Amino acid sequence: MLHKKGFVSWLFVISILLTACAPKTQVVDGPGLATIQSDLVNQLDVEKIYATAEELTKEPRVAGTESEKQAAAYLIKELENYGYDVGVQPFTFERYVMPEKTDLQLAGFEGTFTPAPFHYSVSGTVTGELINAGHGLKEDYDKIDAQGKIAVVTVERTYFYELVLHASKAGATAILIHFPEDNPIDTWTLGKHSDDYIPALALSHKDYMKISKNMDKKATVTIEGARVDQSESQNIMVTKQPDAEQDASTDIVIIGAHYDSVDQAPGASDNASGTSVVLELARMFKDVTTTKELRILFFGAEEEGLYGSKKYVSAMTEDEIKRSVAMFNLDMVGSADAGELAIQTVDGMNNAVTIPASQAYEALNGDSLSTDFGGRSDHVPFHEAGIDAALLVYSPLEKWYHRPEDTIDKLSKDRLLQVAKIVAASTLEMTLPTDSKE
Ligand SMILES: [Zn+2]
Repeated sequence: MLHKKGFVSWLFVISILLTACAPKTQVVDGPGLATIQSDLVNQLDVEKIYATAEELTKEPRVAGTESEKQAAAYLIKELENYGYDVGVQPFTFERYVMPEKTDLQLAGFEGTFTPAPFHYSVSGTVTGELINAGHGLKEDYDKIDAQGKIAVVTVERTYFYELVLHASKAGATAILIHFPEDNPIDTWTLGKHSDDYIPALALSHKDYMKISKNMDKKATVTIEGARVDQSESQNIMVTKQPDAEQDASTDIVIIGAHYDSVDQAPGASDNASGTSVVLELARMFKDVTTTKELRILFFGAEEEGLYGSKKYVSAMTEDEIKRSVAMFNLDMVGSADAGELAIQTVDGMNNAVTIPASQAYEALNGDSLSTDFGGRSDHVPFHEAGIDAALLVYSPLEKWYHRPEDTIDKLSKDRLLQVAKIVAASTLEMTLPTDSKE
């Protein structure tokens, strides 16, 4: 799953309000239960899922590196063993390399600061006067002369990249972005690279308090080693055509997961878990007769900005998009230490994915699963293309999200199997001929 994006608490408030307003899934009795107890679903082998995750988590699988390529090769080999013709969709993307050093100094000030870089912040060493630019909005700069100065702004409600661009446009040479007390600094992102950025650092409330008493002193902002590299990655794809003997429809059902990880994290939960479950679903589906086309996708470079899924969707024809009725995205579906299973859509609304998934969940657990907001993974490009898409994830995320501690021992077999069963039952329900569902 992708890092947290742009804005802060107000979005959280809105999302709570909207979640409260989102219609609860109607749970219908019947086929959900029969399907989830079917022989096919019972065939899912959690030991195989776990073994795949073990194989994938031997080292981090950072997009564009040799280890991501090895993970792709492993998936191709397994899919070929199952008897699939495997497609590879290569693509290039801009890979951001985080700075090696970030520093903030005030001339004549004894104390120290611990600022954090933003993902996509540019390198640079800048010395200049500090200027308070309020909330860093366009109108804040109309009232001040920020030319050649280092802007200090307090985050309110906008995207971080906009704060950086407003400051840059006003002639500021760097920007310090203050996070109020209830918003701790973290690895936030500017979303994507821009040549118009100036060096940008996140300031904790504590550091901001020190700065605000010393606004008359000259500051030096240092960011070293941040850069953008052109890199290559690939999506791995298999397609299962509907059986012509059946009353085949032209609909397409898509199941996907990203297989890359962030730097230094073996990425067991994020996202060897989803990858391994999807690979097991591919095994289960291999010899199943279906009435719809099934596409099973493994995305590269999700962590760098959903590059794989964006590439896949951009290469779909209008006809393919129209025929695609559902996209199940599995990202972080096995952590023993995360919250409960959640199903998330970009708009928080139910759709052709959430409804069967919720029914399957109910058949398994006896209570329903309501749809939540979530837009930080590979279902987003599909949603934006107008395809019903949703993310399955255990939420809230575990403590070691994106950390070296995201190792294989943190995965729960029960949790992996639960998601495998839910997606299997949902997609079987959509793709099996009616008579074979009895
Ligand atoms: Zn992630």
